[in-house]
Amino acid sequence: MPHQLTSTTTSWSLRRHLCGVAAALALCMAAPSANAVSVPLPNPQRLAAEFSAWVDSFKLRAREQGFSADLLDRAFDGVEYNSRVVELDRFQPEFVRPVWQYLDRSVSTQRIIGGQSLEGELATELREIESDYGVPAKYLLAIWGIESAYGEQFGEFNVIEALSTLSFDGRRPAFSEGELLAALRIIAEESVDPQQLRGSWAGAMGHTQFIPSSYLKYAVDFDRDGSRDLWASNPGDALASAANYLVGHGWQPDATWGYEVQLPSDFDYNLAELTVRQPLASWQQLGVQRMDGQPFPPTPPDAEGSVIAPAGAAGPAFLVLDNFRVLLRYNYSTSYALAVAHLGDRIAQAPPFVGSWPRNDEPVRVDEIREMQSLLTELGYDTGGVDGITGPATRAAVRAFQESIGLRPDGYVSAQLVADIRRAATNR
Ligand code: CA
Repeated sequence: MPHQLTSTTTSWSLRRHLCGVAAALALCMAAPSANAVSVPLPNPQRLAAEFSAWVDSFKLRAREQGFSADLLDRAFDGVEYNSRVVELDRFQPEFVRPVWQYLDRSVSTQRIIGGQSLEGELATELREIESDYGVPAKYLLAIWGIESAYGEQFGEFNVIEALSTLSFDGRRPAFSEGELLAALRIIAEESVDPQQLRGSWAGAMGHTQFIPSSYLKYAVDFDRDGSRDLWASNPGDALASAANYLVGHGWQPDATWGYEVQLPSDFDYNLAELTVRQPLASWQQLGVQRMDGQPFPPTPPDAEGSVIAPAGAAGPAFLVLDNFRVLLRYNYSTSYALAVAHLGDRIAQAPPFVGSWPRNDEPVRVDEIREMQSLLTELGYDTGGVDGITGPATRAAVRAFQESIGLRPDGYVSAQLVADIRRAATNR
C-alpha cells in the first residue's frame, strides 16, 4: 500500500477520552431526568454510541469542507464501528519476521509463474505502460502480485467504515481522517458508489492497494473509458497508476533497483546503512563486487548506492540504487522493496539470489528486542530508545557491542546475540 510517512498527532487514548465525554454528554441529555444515575453501558454499546457521536461531529467538519449532506448520508449509510479494523490496527507480532520468510512468501514459485503468465496475457497494455512511464512491466507485475495476489485479494472492508473507525479509534487518527476526506472526494468527484469503495482494513484499494490520497494524486484512466478504476477486471488503470506513482516519486527509467553483491571479508558494516550513499565506483574501490564479478554498468553515470545486509554477515548483501528508494515509497520496508525488486526480476527469468540466509537461526521475539535495547542502554550504548524495532541507532549500538566482545560487528540481531548481551549485562 502506498504509505505516507506521518506521525501520530493525537494519541488515540486522548481522542477516545474526548469522544467519550462528548458521547456521555449526549446520552445524559437524552436520558430521563428521574433516572439521573448513569449506568455504564456494556463496552460494545458504549463504543457504538461514541462512534456515532464521532460520525456526527465528523460530518459537521466535512460539511465545512464543502461536502454535501446528501453525499455524507450516502457515504455513511450502514457504516458502523468495526472492531476487526481496530484489532488489525493494534496487532503486535510476537516475533520479528525474518526477511527470508517475507521473501519466501512474496516471491514464491506460484507468484513468479503467475506473473509470467499475466505478462503474456497483458503484453499489449504492459508495453504501452512501459513506454508511457518508463517503468519496466516486471516491477508493476511484482507490485500487483504482492499487493493483491494479482487482483485476487482487494480486501473486503468498506473503506469509509474502515477509515472512520481508524479516525475515531486508530493509532493515527489525524492521518486516517485525512484519508477519509480523500475517500469522500473520490465518491464526490469520480461518481463512485460508496459501496464500491472496498479495500483493506487500512483503506488500501484495488489491484495495487492505493490509499485514497494516492488515488487522488496518482490514479490514471489508462483505458480512457472515463473512470480511474483500480478494481476493474482489466488491471490497465491500476498498473498504469502504479507506474505513475513510481514516476511521481522519482523512478529513473534507465536504471536498475540494485544488485546482489559480494562484500570483502574486511567490510566495515557501519557502512551498511541506507543513510550511507556513495558512487558505485567508491563501493567498487572498497571491494564491493557484483556476484558475477562484472563491473557495475556505467548508467546512469552519477549513480549512487547504499549497501544493505538485512541478515548481517550471515546473509546476502545488496547495493541498492535510487529506484530501490522509490520502491520504499510504496511501503517503507526494505523487505518489501527487496521483494518487489526480486519478484520482478524473477518474473523476467533472473535466477534466485546467490547468497543464502541464516535460516536455522532461532526466531527473536519483539519483547526480546526491547529487553536487548534496555540492556544495551544500561551497558552505555545508545539504542535511540526502547521500541522493539531494530532501527539504525539500535544497529549501531549492536555493532559497538559486538566489537567490544570480539564479534564481527555486522549489527545483525540473532537469538545468540541477545543471549550474549544478557550475559554481558549480568557479568557487568
Ligand atoms: Ca479507466
